[in-house]
Formats: sequence, C-alpha cells, structure tokens
Amino acid sequence: MDRKIEVSQEGHLLLGGCDAVKLAKQYGTPLYVMDETAVREAMRAYRQSIEEFYGGRGLICYASKAFACKEIYRIADEEGLGADVVSGGELYTALKAGFPAEKLVFHGNNKTDAELKMALENGVGRIVADSIEEVEGLSALAAELGCEAPILLRVTPGIDAHTHEFIRTGQIDSKFGLTLETGEAMEGVKKALALPSVRLLGLHCHIGSQIMDAAPFIHAGEVMMGFIAEIKAQTGVTLAELNLGGGFGIRYHEGDDPIAYAAYMAEVSEAIRKTADAKGIPTPFILMEPGRSIVGEAGTTLYTVGRRKEIPGVRTYISVDGGMSDNPRYILYQAKYDFLLANRAADRADETVTVAGKCCESGDLLGEGVSLPHAGPGDILAVCCTGAYNYSMASNYNRNPIPPVVMVRDGESRVIVKGQRYEDLIQYDV
Ligand SMILES: *Cc1c(COP(=O)(O)O)cnc(C)c1O
Repeated sequence: MDRKIEVSQEGHLLLGGCDAVKLAKQYGTPLYVMDETAVREAMRAYRQSIEEFYGGRGLICYASKAFACKEIYRIADEEGLGADVVSGGELYTALKAGFPAEKLVFHGNNKTDAELKMALENGVGRIVADSIEEVEGLSALAAELGCEAPILLRVTPGIDAHTHEFIRTGQIDSKFGLTLETGEAMEGVKKALALPSVRLLGLHCHIGSQIMDAAPFIHAGEVMMGFIAEIKAQTGVTLAELNLGGGFGIRYHEGDDPIAYAAYMAEVSEAIRKTADAKGIPTPFILMEPGRSIVGEAGTTLYTVGRRKEIPGVRTYISVDGGMSDNPRYILYQAKYDFLLANRAADRADETVTVAGKCCESGDLLGEGVSLPHAGPGDILAVCCTGAYNYSMASNYNRNPIPPVVMVRDGESRVIVKGQRYEDLIQYDV
C-alpha cells in the first residue's frame, strides 16, 4: 500500500489527529470515522475551481447519496455548497438539518407524487425531471399547489464512460433520463416549454461514477452545449443552466489514478466556453454534483479482527466484526480497497489474505489478495476510503446494528451518527 498515512510514535494509525486504536476502544468496532478537514477541503477545492474557471457562475451540489446525515448537510451548507437529494428521506434529512431548500436539487428516475409534492411545497430549487410523464405530472401538481415547478431536464447524452456497468448511466441503455439520439429529449424540452406550471431552467446529465479522466466529461459537456444550441435554433429559447452531474473518481487502491479536480474543471470549462463561442450561445450557469470525491477518501472503517482461518495451499481468511452490512461494495462490485492494521500501522505486510465479514454469505468479503502484516484476534483493521457509499448503503442484514459515525478533526472526535443498539433493531417489529 502506498497511500500517505499518519502514524503515531507507538505505530498507531492517526485519523484527523486521533489515535485510531483509541477511537476503536472508545466507540467500539465496527466504526466509521470521517475526517472533517478532508471533507471540507474537498468541498473547498470544488468551490474554488468554480470561482477560478467560471467566475463563480456555478454551484457545486454535494451528491448526498454518497453519505447522508444531518451533519454533512450542515457542513455542505457552511461551505457554500448546494446538495443533491434522490428521495423523500434525503430531502427530509436535509430540511431537518436546516439546509436551504432553494439550493437543493431533487433527482430520481421514479419519484413518487408524494415526493414531488414534498419538494414543491418546501421550495426545492431544482427538480430534475427524468421523463416526459414526470414533466406533465409536475405541471399538474404545481398547478394544483398554485406554484411553478423549477426543473432541469435529465438528458442521456449517449456517452460510454468506461466504468463499471452498474455505475454507468450516460449511455442509451439506461433507466435514467431522456434519450438525445431518439429525439425524446427535444420532445421533452418542447413539452416543458409549452406547459404553464413548469419553468425549464436548463439541462442535466450524469454519465457515470468513479470516472478517472476528463475526456468523457468534456465530451458530455460538448454534446450538451450542442443540444442547447439546437434547442435555441428550434425554439428560440436559450436555456441558462447546465448541470454536468458527478462521477469524479477517487483513489481507492494503487492503480486508481484520478486527475486533480482543478485540472478537470479547467479542461471542462475551456470546452464549454469554446463550444459556446462556436455555437453563438452564452456560457451557461454550471452545476456539478460530486459525491464520492467529496467524502470517499475522508472515511475509514475500523474493525476488530476475530477469527483467522488458514487453509493450506488455498488461502487464509481473516474475519472481522462487520462486513457487507456496513460495506456492501465488495459484494456489489468487487470494489478494491487499501487495508492496514491500525495498531501496527508501520509494520510491513508479510502475507496475503482474504478479509471476510461476519455475515452469513460466502460472498461477504471486504477484499481478496490483501497484503497485511500477520493479523490475528484483537488486531484493529482499518479499511481506507470508505466515506462514500458505505454508511449510506449499510443495512441490518443478519440484524447487525449499523455502526456509529465519528467525525475527527485536530485530535478531537465526536459522534455525528449514533450507532444502533439491539433495541433499535426491534423498534418497528410488532
Ligand atoms: C450518484 C450521482 C451523483 C454523484 O456521483 P459520484 O460518483 O458520487 O460523484 C451525481 N449526480 C447524480 C444524478 C447521481 O445519480
């Protein structure tokens, strides 16, 4: 593992200046640890790039599905970000955290009427309509409520972003959005412009996730700008906003090599400006929706090692006290992580093991071919880069309680999400 980590004199992993072994003792394991400074720095890097490359004519919306709880919405708000929500539950959490509704963007390919009503009643700033039916439904609903629905139209630009099949969303065969090639997107635009109770602010696209280079984003930006020009030619209307989605990759493991946000923003903004000039349209207000790249690398999960099972000539299993219930990303897409022993963070790896969870599924692993120092019962295993799509995807499978989330900063720690207790597990049972 060649990740930069901080290690104390005792050889313990430090997270946000806190001794990870002490955190494990104080809060128990499994434990999600989030480094507040890393989260805020990532948010600032995005915000600064909007200032630098678009003269501030844009809004970074944290895609909260990556990690949603009240505190992260408060932090995003403090850092001047907007936020994406994709369900009534995320919307509710954001509103309860005091997040300004006008800076929320509401997504989803199948939002329910109740969710749309909740968004309109609370004054959500942008609703991303995913189909012509939704545009029609929104117009009817807004008319009923005596308001206007501010919408962006989600377009599938037909870009293959070379990432894992399940997290690729910009190509034609996707459950999301209105297809550009078939003319469906243009039909949707015309419908939205004609309906009385929707206000079409602009367009949205999101081409995938964990994308490592700028090329597919640039391509998507150019395609979308071309479409804005085509809309102007056909209807006379110049749409003012372009939401380029999220999907920026992070460094989970050696071999993952994402470019820096600033370099990406420089290239994309250049492409947008050039296309705008070439097509004779103004540069739009830009929205971007990073999720993983804001919280992913800030998170670490701590586990206690339990059983060690050596199968001679086959492999060695190291089992920990969590697994797919707190991190389903391995069983979902064989996601790769970096691992280390938090209590012997400076030790050299001397064996290759399979890290297994405690759930009753053979596929419940956290990693295979993992290099670690010889690990046994009582060692504290740290899994790096678990800030995104871990807590937010956690479940109570096997009735494992969902672990707490602790925020660390400058040597201090505080709980931002309480861990579940057994009695919480039965609170809805009758
Ligand atoms: C998931 C998603 C994002 C965030 O993706 P990341 O890969 O976490 O950056 C942004 N926008 C939309 C519409 C999404 O579905």
